[in-house]
Amino acid sequence: MAISPEIQALATDMRVWRQQIHSQPEIAFKEHKTANFVAEHLRSWDIETHTGIGQTGVIGVIHGSLGFGPSIAFRADMDALPIVEEGQPSYRSQHHGIFHGCGHDGHTAILLGTARLLAQNRDFSGKVVLIFQPAEEIIQGSRAMLEDDLLRRFPFDEVYSLHNHPSLAAGTIGVRTGALMASVDFFSIRITGIGSHGGMPHLSVDPIVIGSSLVTALQSIVSRNVDPIENAVISVCSFQAGETNNVIPEFAQLNGTVRTLSIPVRQQVIERMRDICQGIAVSHHCQIDMTLSNNTPPVVNSPEHTQHVILAAKNVVGAHNLIDNVAPIMAGDDVAVFLQERPGCHFLLGQDGPMCHHPHYDFNDEVASIGVAMFEQLVRLRLGA
Ligand SMILES: [Zn+2]
Ligand SMILES: [Zn+2]
Repeated sequence: MAISPEIQALATDMRVWRQQIHSQPEIAFKEHKTANFVAEHLRSWDIETHTGIGQTGVIGVIHGSLGFGPSIAFRADMDALPIVEEGQPSYRSQHHGIFHGCGHDGHTAILLGTARLLAQNRDFSGKVVLIFQPAEEIIQGSRAMLEDDLLRRFPFDEVYSLHNHPSLAAGTIGVRTGALMASVDFFSIRITGIGSHGGMPHLSVDPIVIGSSLVTALQSIVSRNVDPIENAVISVCSFQAGETNNVIPEFAQLNGTVRTLSIPVRQQVIERMRDICQGIAVSHHCQIDMTLSNNTPPVVNSPEHTQHVILAAKNVVGAHNLIDNVAPIMAGDDVAVFLQERPGCHFLLGQDGPMCHHPHYDFNDEVASIGVAMFEQLVRLRLGA
C-alpha cells in the first residue's frame, strides 16, 4: 500500500478529530458545532473558508501555486443520525439519541486531513473546493447548498466523494461506472374511507382492507411492470390505522420508500403507484392521496471520472485491493444531486464491522489515511504536480 509518510503522520490527528466529532454528534441542519470545528481548522491552515452555505455547510477553497487550471471538488457529509448508540467506545456520543452511525464523522475527518495536506502542498494548478455538506441523512443538504448558489460562488468542473462501506474489507476500494447507489423517494399514502362499528362493516368503507390490498398491489409493480434486468424496490415501512378492537377507522396511513437505479425506472414506478392508488380508490369508493417527499436521484458515476478513481485506487491500495465493478447498493446518497450538475465519481472505502445505521456501527479510523491518499492522488492526476 502506497501511503506516504506525510499522510501516515496525519492519522493520529484524524483519529482525534473523528472521535471528537463522534462524541458531539449533530443531526441534519443542526451541525453548528461540527461546522465551527471544521471552519476553525481550515482557517488555522490558512485556507479560504466560507460558512453558512446551505444553512450549516462549510466550503474551503485551496488555490494551487502552479497557476490556472481546472477546479475539482471533494465532498464530505457532516450529519449524524437520530438513533441511540449502543456501542461503548471511550468517545461515545454525549448526545443521547443522536449517533454518528453512518461514519460521517470519519468522512469529515478525512476531508480535514486532505485539507491540511493540500494546504501544505499547494504545488498543483487550478484549485480544490472542499465541500463539507450538511443534512445528508435526510437527503436535503446537497440541494440546500446548490440553492445557496454553490456552483456560481465556488465553481468546480468535477466532483469526487467517498462513503465508508462495512461490507468491503478494510484496505479495499469499491467503485463502478454508472449507477452505484439508488434513487430515494419517500412516499405517504393516506386512505380516507368511512368509519363504522366493528360489527357493522357494511356501513363502512374500511381503509384497513383497502390498505391491505393496496400494499399487495404495489408489489406487482416490481414483479410485473419493471424490466427484470432493471432494479427497483418499493417498501411499505409503516401502516397505521385504527385504535381499538370494535371500531373500523376512517383513515389509514401508509409510509414507505422507493429505490431505483435509473431515472426512467423511477418515473415508471411512481407513475404506476399513482395509477394503482387511483384505481383502488375508484373500485372501493374511497379517497387515496399519495404524496412524495425527500427525494434524491441515483448516484451515477461518469465513465471517465470513474477511470481516474480506478487509477488512484491502483496507486493507493493496489489493483488486488480494488473492486472496480462493485455491486450497486439500494441505499441512496444525495451527492447524486452534485453528480447531476457536474461529472464525477463516488466510491466506497472498505472498513469491515457492522453495517452503517446499525446501533453498534463505528467508523474504522484505520482507513482514514486511505481516504486522504485517494483524494491526494486525484489532485495529482487531475491538477498535475
Ligand atoms: Zn446514513
Ligand atoms: Zn452516510
